[in-house]
Amino acid sequence: MDMDGSSSAVVIHKQFNANVPGVDLVAQSSDGVVFHLHRKNLELYTDGAFPGLHNSVNRSSSRAESQIVRLDELSLILEIVFQFLYPRRQPSLKGLDFQTISAVADAVEKYRVFSAMNLCEEALTGYLEDQSMSIFLHALRYRRVNLANQSAVYLSRKPLLSVLDSIPPAITIPWLRYLEAWKSMFDLQLQKLEERLGTQFCDTLAVFSRFHPLAGEHSELCSPCFCSVTSWISLLQRMDKLSDLKAALIASIEPTRLSRTYMFNIPGSFSSSRDFSSLALRIQKGLCPDCLKAKGCLALPDIATRMLQNIEKLPPFTSFLNEDLDGEAVNANEED
Ligand SMILES: [Zn+2]
Ligand SMILES: [Zn+2]
Repeated sequence: MDMDGSSSAVVIHKQFNANVPGVDLVAQSSDGVVFHLHRKNLELYTDGAFPGLHNSVNRSSSRAESQIVRLDELSLILEIVFQFLYPRRQPSLKGLDFQTISAVADAVEKYRVFSAMNLCEEALTGYLEDQSMSIFLHALRYRRVNLANQSAVYLSRKPLLSVLDSIPPAITIPWLRYLEAWKSMFDLQLQKLEERLGTQFCDTLAVFSRFHPLAGEHSELCSPCFCSVTSWISLLQRMDKLSDLKAALIASIEPTRLSRTYMFNIPGSFSSSRDFSSLALRIQKGLCPDCLKAKGCLALPDIATRMLQNIEKLPPFTSFLNEDLDGEAVNANEED
């Protein structure tokens, strides 16, 4: 008898215990907790690939060791996943840390617990900024198209080499093509600015660019402002957080905010690894007198608006893949 070895004692989960009527499958977590489950529910709520589901039920020796399905996940994770197998209120993933959500999402995909998939995807999207790489890899592994595209947008701002070191080699070329689309978006903005490089002063029509049909892209930019705005765009391009990039653009569109706080001088708004604010202030000082008085180039709201629109219009990452990532469509065809 193992009087002293508490570690070898079988711990049965409080909720998923052997006293629940009809339980006919025993699973054990990696930390040794035993769960008693119903095969019928696993068949109903998953695609039937759960390990041990089709093993014959050995009635004569219900406690036989060989009948226990050993799983790789911790009991904390399985407890959440198994709740999705029963017609009761689904567990909330709110307030859980990323590591737990990520492990639950992995288990849910691995065991094909359909009822939990969308909830997990939703929970993961709360971490897109800080965990874009893990979420991107998860999405690729389990063919979650929306999640792959959402995380790719955040990941696109990260240093290229760190991304290439982490993504599957087969994704390298599609990733470079996707980044090229981002680069073209910035290049196009710079090119449009070059076409606007004018003579002496910034065209004051630009002030009304959002309201005046003749203004906007056709107004001229003075040389100092041209240099300032192009530096600003190259700085935006180097920001490694999408939220910083968008915050800088949004702040430049809002004229009331612009008059008080220049686009870069928003205290505490930047979380990028590099501090851009002092560089931004120096860029600001390069504006022509009129625009300096307005604390921002008069053409800026229009440029920032277009850039935000163009970011939204960028082709999604999965459109650069050779194969169709959407596994659901393939399954649907097979069923025909
Ligand atoms: Zn100017
Ligand atoms: Zn200007």
